[in-house]
Amino acid sequence: MRTPFPFHRLLEMLAVTLAALLLACLSASRVHAAPAPPPGPSGQSRRPVIHYITINKRNYLRISEIASFYQCTATRKITVQQKTITLTNRHGQKLLFTADSISATLDGYQINFCYKVLYQKGEFYLEQTDFKDFLDPILRTQTVPKRAVKTIMLDPGHGGKDHGTEQGGTMEKDLNLLLAKRIRSILQRRGYTVLMTREKDVETTLQKRSELCAAKKPDLFISVHCNAHAGSTDINGIEVWIANPVGVPSYGTTTLGQDLPGTKYHSSNALLAYLTLKELIKTTKANDRGIRRKQFYVISHSPAPSMLVEFGFLSNEAERKNLLDTSYQDKLCAAVCDAIDKFAQIVAPPKPPRPR
Ligand SMILES: [Zn+2]
Repeated sequence: MRTPFPFHRLLEMLAVTLAALLLACLSASRVHAAPAPPPGPSGQSRRPVIHYITINKRNYLRISEIASFYQCTATRKITVQQKTITLTNRHGQKLLFTADSISATLDGYQINFCYKVLYQKGEFYLEQTDFKDFLDPILRTQTVPKRAVKTIMLDPGHGGKDHGTEQGGTMEKDLNLLLAKRIRSILQRRGYTVLMTREKDVETTLQKRSELCAAKKPDLFISVHCNAHAGSTDINGIEVWIANPVGVPSYGTTTLGQDLPGTKYHSSNALLAYLTLKELIKTTKANDRGIRRKQFYVISHSPAPSMLVEFGFLSNEAERKNLLDTSYQDKLCAAVCDAIDKFAQIVAPPKPPRPR
């Protein structure tokens, strides 16, 4: 006699099938590094898949597949000296990668990865964190978390007994404060609330600066510095620094990023830094030293999207003259504020529907 199939067995089988499906989905997400795909031209989603390979225990994505993901064409140039791949999208934006280099350019502006781009058997590879936490948010700005940007904390570096660098009679601490105050007045005119970690020539510890940020909860934290090079007076240009992710080496070192309060904002930081570098270089035509990542104390301890801008080298005579020139200072400060405006527009939360 056939016994009727028990209902609880059916439920059990259903649960097992669902669990298997879930497991399949999870393992699929491990072999494919592709985030949510961009919508296709007619509104439907295309689903290009980005595979990765593991090299030296890290995951790398094929740059040719990154090209398909962003609907870009890829052009390779292979010579004995250099191997490059350029991705171009339909708007003509270009992303240039160079094998064995951490430096890439996006529309001509320098971005620096934590790991070198690899070239193996005719394929270029980008490390997964460099893609996910750095490049992708700059290219797909819609993936950056939404936040209202109303209050900005400016952090003029050094102060009091801590002069910062001193070059040709100029103390960095004074210039940092002057630039920060100028940025403050532009931002205030544009309707932002601006807080400062110091308003006078006083010494403030890095811890106090970050504690102030934690207490006041600004929407952005921006540290203002000027640079110096100990070895060469020729070196000049602008750098924008953001914190490197946990477990990933900082710029030019093998020091791995720690899990700190400021390391939750990689997407926001990457976009903010790119917009800032672009505006600064476009406006001043200064040497572009790119976006670099390191866990400087204030940017890695401040619980808000943050960056540290090095506005130029006081150790380079020509750049020092520029930095002390009022109209050049105006350009620098306006460029930072324009970048903040652009960032604020991109990440603005959607407006709630008007009540009828
Ligand atoms: Zn400094």
